[in-house]
Amino acid sequence: MELHIASIGGDGIGPEIITEAKKVLKKVCEKYGHTISYDDILMGGASIDVHGVPLTDETIEIAKKADAVLMGSIGGDTNTSPWYKLEPSLRPEAGLLKLRKALNLFANLRPAVLYPQLAGACPLKEEISARGFDMLIMRELTGGLYFGERHTEEVNGVRTAIDTLTYNEEEIRRVAIKAFDVAMVRNKKVTSVDKANVLDSSRLWRTVVNEVAKDYPEVIVEHMLVDNCAMQLVKDPAQFDVILTENMFGDILSDEASMVTGSIGMLASASMNDTKFGLYEPSHGSAPDIAGKNIANPLATILSAAMMLKYSFGLLEEAKAIETAIYQVLDDGYRTGDIMSEGMKKVSCSEMGDLVSERI
Ligand code: NAD
Repeated sequence: MELHIASIGGDGIGPEIITEAKKVLKKVCEKYGHTISYDDILMGGASIDVHGVPLTDETIEIAKKADAVLMGSIGGDTNTSPWYKLEPSLRPEAGLLKLRKALNLFANLRPAVLYPQLAGACPLKEEISARGFDMLIMRELTGGLYFGERHTEEVNGVRTAIDTLTYNEEEIRRVAIKAFDVAMVRNKKVTSVDKANVLDSSRLWRTVVNEVAKDYPEVIVEHMLVDNCAMQLVKDPAQFDVILTENMFGDILSDEASMVTGSIGMLASASMNDTKFGLYEPSHGSAPDIAGKNIANPLATILSAAMMLKYSFGLLEEAKAIETAIYQVLDDGYRTGDIMSEGMKKVSCSEMGDLVSERI
């Protein structure tokens, strides 16, 4: 297969971690007989420095022509970087928002995996963390409360703010289909999270999810209220495979799920549209405090590359090879500084990339 990728190094540790992901992808392609090519494009601070804007229209066109986008991270130190003296629409993050919009990326996928080797970093009780967990949160990204009409007015002399939460069935259906498709290549279970005991938008959500579920007889579907889900994530995270939810609930639950893994440098993510196209990036930011020191953990970016192989190219075996290699590296006791613990062997960012590549 020929893989054509738009690659964004970005800012801070971005270029370092993307180099390691490319190193691993090269090895995978050699082993499985694929060819891979990259268009390296600028976004965020790196683009501001060259073009004066965080993302140019030409760059968007290049991204659109690729099969997928692989990204490091963007942004600088928000207190000291001159990028944050610019007006908000010209700051690094505006580039990412613009790209997501241009590519119509409405589904956000965030796996939260607790590796048994890193269970010590998990803030949960040992009897819970010992079981490990491997879930993926599918969050609707372009609708709901964050995109509804809002205003503040004075009603009878009292300041009153109004936000509206709207979903139509098409918005729900397309993200539900994504969740069921993803469940089919995972453990075939979808937990749809809503607040159907109160909200009309949640009742419609539940109805449409049940309609979509009929096309996936192999997938077990269950519905859970969001307050219960927040509790279950810390009580029994091993019960989840794919959690499907709307924008605001997903915003909160995906952060909660990330934090219970305890390891920010291990968390991958993807944003997808209704084709196989996706933007793949680690969940963490550009970590300006450790940029240029070759000490960042590249594993979240390497795992994002594995997600790209799985979801944009359907290369399940190749994705598994990356995940297994990472598992072995951890088993062999290698750690970057952020996941270091007593008795383990500390390695640099580039050494971590080498160790994973060697095990492909
Ligand atoms: P951050 O995630 O960059 O860093 C938080 C802490 O985690 C820091 O101590 C950092 O050193 C550490 N860390 C993060 N990733 C790591 C890794 N791979 N290996 C080892 N340690 C790691 O969050 P922040 O400091 O709040 O943000 C820094 C910049 O990143 C800001 O400009 C912010 O806007 C941007 N940001 C970008 C994205 C993105 O590109 N999608 C996401 C979040 C934040």
